[in-house]
Amino acid sequence: MEINAPPDGARFVAGSKKLVGDFHDQFVSMILEAQSMVPPPIVANAGSTRSRREPSLDTSTFTVCLRMRPLLGNELTARGESFNCVIPGESKIDGSDRTDQVIVFTPKVGITGKPSLTEATFAFDYVFGPDHDGDHVYDAVVEAVVKRAEGGQVGVVFAFGQTGSGKSHTMNGLMDRLVMELFANSSEASTRRITFSYMEILGSNIRDCLAIMPDNDNGNTMPKVQIGELLDGRAVVKNLSEHRTSSAKELSALIGVAKSQRTTKATEKNDTSSRSHGVGIIRFGHVGFEAGEGPAEGVLYIIDLAGSERSDDSKGHNKSLMDETKEINLSIMSLKECIRARTIASGPGGASIHVPYRRSKLTLLMKDVFDLGCKRMCSTVVLAHVSPLAGDVKHTVNTMNYCAPLRVAVNDKTKSSERDDRDPATWDADRIRSWCEKTMGLDATESNMLLPRGTTGIELCRTTEVEIYRRLAGKHDKAKCVYQGLWTLICDAKTRKRRPDGSIITQEQEDAEIANARKLQEEKAKLWEDREKTLKSEF
Ligand code: ADP
Repeated sequence: MEINAPPDGARFVAGSKKLVGDFHDQFVSMILEAQSMVPPPIVANAGSTRSRREPSLDTSTFTVCLRMRPLLGNELTARGESFNCVIPGESKIDGSDRTDQVIVFTPKVGITGKPSLTEATFAFDYVFGPDHDGDHVYDAVVEAVVKRAEGGQVGVVFAFGQTGSGKSHTMNGLMDRLVMELFANSSEASTRRITFSYMEILGSNIRDCLAIMPDNDNGNTMPKVQIGELLDGRAVVKNLSEHRTSSAKELSALIGVAKSQRTTKATEKNDTSSRSHGVGIIRFGHVGFEAGEGPAEGVLYIIDLAGSERSDDSKGHNKSLMDETKEINLSIMSLKECIRARTIASGPGGASIHVPYRRSKLTLLMKDVFDLGCKRMCSTVVLAHVSPLAGDVKHTVNTMNYCAPLRVAVNDKTKSSERDDRDPATWDADRIRSWCEKTMGLDATESNMLLPRGTTGIELCRTTEVEIYRRLAGKHDKAKCVYQGLWTLICDAKTRKRRPDGSIITQEQEDAEIANARKLQEEKAKLWEDREKTLKSEF
């Protein structure tokens, strides 16, 4: 949508090229006017409304959010391109299916010197405006992910955006709150083991920010960390130190060391711009885990991605900074591809879709999140950041164009898919109870402990491993058996062959198709044999 300047706009003066900054006041009033217009504009990435579905289990969920920082310090009084051009839009909240919109006004000055605005609206799961503080972000989207990780699952929080858009501000705030929350309940301290690690990734160069080793020639250097895959398919990290923490003070101190160790180099955009991806890993072990008797470790990744610079900003960089920019953009692109592919893969007929998580070390580290056969629930929150400044609008649109479609991909899988009777997420309370008793060998008392108040299949599938062990306290073997049995069924259902329309290809149908193909091949071979015989007899 294009909005033109009011008739009393600045006139074009031959020979003097006007720039956006020359129309500061005019653009401010044009944006204010556009903002007051109703109804809200059409959403650029619309078509993503979620529909109610059969109970189904998303084993890897992605919540895509946008946070815009306020104008700061002298930006508030400065002229030129220092005015606000990003406005939080309408919110649509329908039960748990919600959409928040954001409007970006791109100011332009035409060849005749006439100012105009282009307007685009993007939709996200959540939009956090300048009035929303870090606690609001934590409560809305991060808390649930942390709880899941504490319960033995995988949680990931990514901060993405242009340098100076507020990524570190958000991540620092989230870490401070997290430290407080993790140690708020002292009664849990004796039953769990929390460790913290921090590394920085720059292409294939990975360093531990919490281990300082003496180096005879150059003083202190950090050892190189390696990320790879084991033969059984698990992603592993070598040479990364793990630090056990039993208090908020200890964890805070470790985070402080990690931050100070993280490489920052001057760039044109921001003197303290982070040129690497910072990855904080918090692992939650539980009593019995090391002896193989308790639930698996939960893990939380807090990832502060390097600034997503555009090539315009790196014009003056030396070769090494340009190479770094290339590496950063490559890993950010592969992250986007993996999120899209993983979401499509879990939709109807998508089991054969390849998720290219081996393309970058960052996505390899996150293998659980992208692997359809992963035996744990994974929850990922993408927090895109933008600056409100008109001078940064190209970056802002770039960030929105990158992140908003991730949400559309997430919603694509709402295409209807044939109900799979073997998927435990579709079972009612009686059927899940019967499976627990007949197949898993639980007695009636144990079933009552595990399935309070008529727990349904989907509810049990969403129950964390730690919670299953807690409900079946003292019966570790049974808890292990139920959790593993349940996830085998869930993974089978996720990887079951389906046609592109979502209908299931049963084993019998598959066998019949193979037998049919074999029969056709035999008939063809026989035909050729007969023809050869005829030809031989003719000549
Ligand atoms: P990045 O990590 O993306 O390069 P920073 O987190 O360093 O950006 O933010 C740039 C500046 O903006 C910092 O001075 C920071 O304190 C400030 N800032 C960012 N987000 C907010 C916010 N939501 N509220 C107040 N100040 C903010």
